[in-house]
Amino acid sequence: MEKEVIICPNCSKEFEIRACSSINLNEEPFRLKQILNGKINVYKCPKCKTEVKYKSHILVTKIKDEVTEWYWLVSKKHQEPTYKETLLKTILPNVQSTGLIQQHVVFVDFGKPQEGLKFVLGDQKPQSESDWISLGKVLAGEEAIRCFQKALRINSKNLEAKTLLHQELDKLKTYS
Ligand SMILES: [Zn+2]
Repeated sequence: MEKEVIICPNCSKEFEIRACSSINLNEEPFRLKQILNGKINVYKCPKCKTEVKYKSHILVTKIKDEVTEWYWLVSKKHQEPTYKETLLKTILPNVQSTGLIQQHVVFVDFGKPQEGLKFVLGDQKPQSESDWISLGKVLAGEEAIRCFQKALRINSKNLEAKTLLHQELDKLKTYS
């Protein structure tokens, strides 16, 4: 973790933070809870107490059964079906030999608890319709659609799943 100075967008106060833009869950398993509780990538301004977001994306690494997985936690303002491609194109030219690394993009609201992330980063599997909905909410495009469809398979009358499914299908049309 390196020290960095950031400027509060609200009151312009400059303050020092211990910046963290990547997390390895194998080295720091305790960070999983922080991530799920929305406690990463936000720093409170010491003057006006505004929560300042540091980066628009954070990299979380997880190695399981010798497979390295990279999870890009991306600010929700970028949540659209083609963003993964855009992100990897911008970042990957600087990263060497990523062929064996599996890459995932999940969309989060930094500073808020992230219900759906436990199915991505934790070992839990979605079971109920609400589990599938919360997972779908952190994904985009086909991946999100699959989750809302699974929720509807459990309960075809679930209005939230129906609405989200239609929104996602519309987005897919707009971005393709
Ligand atoms: Zn401030």
